[in-house]
Amino acid sequence: KMKQIAIYGKGGIGKSTTCSNLSASLSLLGYKVLQIGCDPKADSTKNLIGGKSKPSVLDYIRESSVKVTKEGILTKGFSNTYCIEAGGPEPGVGCAGRGIITAIEMINELNIFEELDIDVVIYDVLGDVVCGGFAVPLRMGFAKEVYLVTSGEAMALYAANNISKAIQRFGQRSDVRLGGIICNQRNAYMEKEIVTGLAKNLSSQVIGWIPRDNIVQECELKNATVVEGSPESDMAKVYSQLASNIMSNENFVIPTPMDDMQFDFMIKQPMKMQIQ
Ligand code: ADP
Ligand code: SF4
Ligand code: MG
Repeated sequence: KMKQIAIYGKGGIGKSTTCSNLSASLSLLGYKVLQIGCDPKADSTKNLIGGKSKPSVLDYIRESSVKVTKEGILTKGFSNTYCIEAGGPEPGVGCAGRGIITAIEMINELNIFEELDIDVVIYDVLGDVVCGGFAVPLRMGFAKEVYLVTSGEAMALYAANNISKAIQRFGQRSDVRLGGIICNQRNAYMEKEIVTGLAKNLSSQVIGWIPRDNIVQECELKNATVVEGSPESDMAKVYSQLASNIMSNENFVIPTPMDDMQFDFMIKQPMKMQIQ
């Protein structure tokens, strides 16, 4: 049965880095993976496809003289991972979420999941504003499993808690669930305690601790994921472990997001949070 995963988090927190290393690892574990970049930035899959620039689905649709084909929007990346960028509206015009709907509908119309016999779909989605638009992969029931990428920094934690509010909302009327928190470490103050506290407060778990490591940038300069560019590194092992953890995960919850006061307490009193 096909697994559809959505990865959310604040802009710049490391979603695309995490998603593409995850896709690469899953593929090496034998799964057929499709990564769909749902960030208007359309750079989600660049390190899987060697930095090639590829028109997004919405670019194709806007180019109304060209018929959208499977070959047109699909790129084969490292280790036979499949990559698609949904793209976004032109700045200042239209709704990014509306764009994601259009793009995903096109992917369905082209029958890509079935034809490629995909095992895992990963949606890489921006989580700064949790509007109806960016909630589309959840709201429309595309992805049932959500993972939140955060560090121990306040803004990233805030976004994670906020997205949890959306998951809670949709979880009550559908089977969308939170599968866990991925901590992309920034070596922030009391980061481990705070992110563990976040997971506890949301009634969830931390499913992966990813260290901060310059090997990510080194590989990025070669337009590669760490899994491809430095396969023997500790970081590659971390991503592979994350991939296994996600595939064997059975801890899915309707999250219990914090209100503003609880959130403030979590950030300022991480030790007390632990004792509770
Ligand atoms: P997002 O997709 O959430 O906007 P990105 O994945 O593009 O964020 O990450 C932003 C930058 O952070 C990347 O260019 C990458 O170099 C860096 N980065 C992400 N994760 C790590 C990490 N674990 N260690 C070092 N650098 C990282
Ligand atoms: Fe942008 Fe969201 Fe509003 Fe759409 S719903 S226009 S994505 S803020
Ligand atoms: Mg990104």
